[in-house]
Amino acid sequence: MNVLISGASIAGTTLAYWLRRHGFTPTVVERAPDIREGGYKIDIRGAALEVVSRMGLLDEIRRERTDVQGGSIVNAAGRRVASMDGDTFGGRVDEDAEILRGDLAQLLYGLTRDEVDYLFDDSIATLSEGPDGVDVVFDSGRRGRFDLVVGADGLHSATRGLAFGPEQRFVRDLGYHVAIFSVPNHLNLDRWELTYVGAGRTALTYSTAKDTGAKAMFLFSSGPIAYDHRDRAQQQRILADAYAAEGWEVPRLLEGMAAAPDFYFDSLSQVHMDHWSTGRVALVGDSAYCASPASGQGTSLALVGAYVLAGELAAAGGDHRAGFAAYEREMRPFVEANQQLGPANVKRMVMRSKGQIRFVMTMLSLMRYLPGKDRMAAKAVEHIHRAATAIALKSY
Ligand SMILES: Cc1cc2nc3c(=O)[nH]c(=O)nc-3n(C[C@H](O)[C@H](O)[C@H](O)COP(=O)(O)OP(=O)(O)OC[C@H]3O[C@@H](n4cnc5c(N)ncnc54)[C@H](O)[C@@H]3O)c2cc1C
Repeated sequence: MNVLISGASIAGTTLAYWLRRHGFTPTVVERAPDIREGGYKIDIRGAALEVVSRMGLLDEIRRERTDVQGGSIVNAAGRRVASMDGDTFGGRVDEDAEILRGDLAQLLYGLTRDEVDYLFDDSIATLSEGPDGVDVVFDSGRRGRFDLVVGADGLHSATRGLAFGPEQRFVRDLGYHVAIFSVPNHLNLDRWELTYVGAGRTALTYSTAKDTGAKAMFLFSSGPIAYDHRDRAQQQRILADAYAAEGWEVPRLLEGMAAAPDFYFDSLSQVHMDHWSTGRVALVGDSAYCASPASGQGTSLALVGAYVLAGELAAAGGDHRAGFAAYEREMRPFVEANQQLGPANVKRMVMRSKGQIRFVMTMLSLMRYLPGKDRMAAKAVEHIHRAATAIALKSY
């Protein structure tokens, strides 16, 4: 069976890998001219660790790990109010791994590039489904017929728009925006993360074992903002305006955005859909069930979703109706458990008012004197671990 996958990031490359292993013939179309670099450090937890391990990637992921040792919350004067070790700060337990998003995408691409057709710089323009397949016309004018089409093209999925309807029906704005980009390491951080919390405005910066520079991330409460998704200068103005009144190192970090090669800006949103397939078209990863960067589980969901979708299609002997239905049955409880993490986490990451910041800062500065602090830290990580392991992976 020929399967066209739209999007060559985490979900698309992983799906291509597993479909190939099960004897399907995948083709991946990616709008960007190459695998997209950039993005934050991401965690691979629980069931997703098992997926990358079954792909033989675990050792490489460990070699490429960020090795961030810990993080501190700083106040406006730059004083470190509280510090935590890296795993507690990142919500990791046991073997959970942290890697830069771009490095993971490259590893997944490297694993598949010799066996899978990648069509870069192109995109699906139209889909028309007949009884025996889907006729696809690409933006480039290229045409093709595929047995199945899978959208792995992220939060603003074009495949979802073509097959299921407009984005507004499925995308839920959580009321925040996020920006991430590379900056010079002017604070000379050595595998350490600093988090500054202003009212409705959080800013972080960290360096990893692999970076000579650093990364900056901005997370701010905003409500919906109208802007052009391809107009980077406009997005940078929105970000600069949102942080115009903030102190600490914020102005210096923002200075870096104009020259950043990997500026990423988006709303913090989730995707909620009743079905992830219609006819011969299905969705996987963020396009189907984005949990938002605040969940910390978007990449793990994409890895597990791709594994399960390919496995269930194989188990159904290529009967796409049965395969898609089984994929939904297996994945839905896991998706729901992980989507719940997003809204709760973002409320902890972005403070509403100066009063709340003062209260939290006081509590954090006292935390080191509390007798049960290790138990409290373990508890904070426990619910993430529970969601990350809320699926028993079949062997297919
Ligand atoms: C450059 C970048 C940086 C990111 N940074 C972060 C981050 O810092 N923190 C975080 O939590 N999440 C980040 N994300 C999102 C994160 O990768 C996903 O939440 C998660 O890994 C699920 O991946 P996905 O493959 O489903 O979707 P995505 O990673 O969003 O990938 C979608 C892919 O589809 C491609 N695409 C989009 N539209 C089309 C189209 N019409 N035709 C063909 N291809 C298309 C995109 O170029 C992209 O390669 C980032 C995504 C990208 C693309």
